[in-house]
Amino acid sequence: MSEEGLTNKVVKGIGVSSGIAFGKVRLIERGRLPVTKRSIKEEHIQKEVNRFRHAIKTAIEELNSIKESIPDDEVRKHAFIIDAHMMILQDDFFTGAVIETIKSEKVNAEWALDQVVSKFLLSFEKVVDPYLKERGQDIKYIYSRLARILVKGKTEDLNNIRTAGKSIIVAHDLSPADTIQLNMSKVSGFVTEVGGRTSHTSIVARALEIPAVVAVQNITSLVKNNDSIVIDGDEGIVIINPSKETQDEFLTKQIHLKIQKKEFLKVARLKAETKDGYKIKVGANIELLAEMDIVKKYGGMGVGLYRTEYIFLSKKGLPTEEEHFHIYRKLAENKDLEYVTVRTLDIGGDKFLQNSKGQKEANPALGLRAIRLCIKEMDIFKAQLMGILRASAYGPLKILIPMVSGTDEVKKIKGLLKEYMDELSSKGIEFNRDIKLGIMVEVPSTCMISDMLAPEVDFFSIGTNDLIQYTLAIDRVNEYVSYLYEPLHPAVLRMIKHTVQVAHAHRIEVALCGEMAGEPLYVPILLGLELDELSMNPYTIPKTKKIIRGLEQSYCKELLKAILNNDSAKRSEALLREEMKRLFPKEF
Ligand code: PEP
Ligand code: MG
Repeated sequence: MSEEGLTNKVVKGIGVSSGIAFGKVRLIERGRLPVTKRSIKEEHIQKEVNRFRHAIKTAIEELNSIKESIPDDEVRKHAFIIDAHMMILQDDFFTGAVIETIKSEKVNAEWALDQVVSKFLLSFEKVVDPYLKERGQDIKYIYSRLARILVKGKTEDLNNIRTAGKSIIVAHDLSPADTIQLNMSKVSGFVTEVGGRTSHTSIVARALEIPAVVAVQNITSLVKNNDSIVIDGDEGIVIINPSKETQDEFLTKQIHLKIQKKEFLKVARLKAETKDGYKIKVGANIELLAEMDIVKKYGGMGVGLYRTEYIFLSKKGLPTEEEHFHIYRKLAENKDLEYVTVRTLDIGGDKFLQNSKGQKEANPALGLRAIRLCIKEMDIFKAQLMGILRASAYGPLKILIPMVSGTDEVKKIKGLLKEYMDELSSKGIEFNRDIKLGIMVEVPSTCMISDMLAPEVDFFSIGTNDLIQYTLAIDRVNEYVSYLYEPLHPAVLRMIKHTVQVAHAHRIEVALCGEMAGEPLYVPILLGLELDELSMNPYTIPKTKKIIRGLEQSYCKELLKAILNNDSAKRSEALLREEMKRLFPKEF
């Protein structure tokens, strides 16, 4: 229940889509409805079955009409998720189980549905296949729609939000159908209790450039409809009923961000080159085809990291070679970008807690993750590599392998690629035999033997998110040790420096695609380290370019020397901030 008079209350979550938004709360009730058990007489069983069938029919009609009335082209690209939900609603196994329960237990339809879904969810918890496990979420969305239809006659239509100004949608969770259906002209932001950067709401919010904060605990019980609310999608903050001062503060920040964005967009298309002529590639990290337009708009030269995990999460079952091929072909055919680096599946670690054979791993970050899983589950890997190879005939794709820790893995991958290339040749299927193969440098061993790995591959891409985690022995998702997560730690900087030096000695290029690349404060350090490419969240590209264009590389090298001699990351950070404030007073 809402608390009366909650004012200026700050609640923390994860900012997943940039920007400040003001609005009135629009609470969307999408939790699991409490349903009660009713025993029914034999002669009423058929009536209950008919009621359930009618609910299924209504749910399908609702989803169809959502699909037909999608207001925005950008959103339409996500409508395939609705098809997946309709398939489940038409699945005899699912509907049959509910009807069977109504008949055998002589209970009302909502109770039978509740029982069946609970059983399904329990088995999804135990399911060994991590991709399949994710599908439990779809069952929850379907349950929620059907239960609402059974109890209330229909699902609330989010397309008809009636508020004077713009609303901020607050919900426990929003299903893909909910998000897609929202009338974006009336919505200024999203807040949900669950979710992460890659949850569907977050992805749609980013594609539409609507501020969003997720993982805000208890937010639905802290607010009530029409409360004023401010959200900060960069800081991951929600302020309920902000005071006049807070409103003014965020309004100033919002205006500042808008002006900044306009200014940054002006430099988006300019070259990333320092005042003394050092050129660096600036690429984007994305995970959706729909984001390609954003990469272009924000001035990315190419895609330095295309994360493919979402392909596996957004569909029922495993993606086929054909499905991989169609996605990568669209990436390859894009005429605006000079290259697209497709990273093979990086599942495990923080992305899934379960390994593919169902054993819960004690240390998932050190477990069967990424390339280790792909080498074990060869069918998954083959479908993906074949898809990339076939798509390489259509444009400049590169292959990037995550979590490599030794030369055997690289040799194994090269052997597989050769085998798959021969298979394609023998079938007369076109592909690019010279496709570039790179590895992520994100495990300390890879950095230490970079001289042994460099002759084997065409490029390195340093993943600082993991390199920092594994070098400093801090779990990247554990809030208790997050204070130790220091990109300027001398050990991290030495590792990057070593990797670049070795790569250049072997005449191969090095990119850096961890979050560190998208933090403007670190730009002089990364330029001093002589990286060849920085790949980042596309929205930070213009600001990064502006800073690159305002610096001299000779100065960056001197600054790097000072920072490398510093034994404290905190002091390095302070020094860097001071320097950047002096050089870019408007930005820092
Ligand atoms: C990294 O580890 O820095 C990286 C870019 O990969 P991810 O965050 O997907 O692990
Ligand atoms: Mg990584």
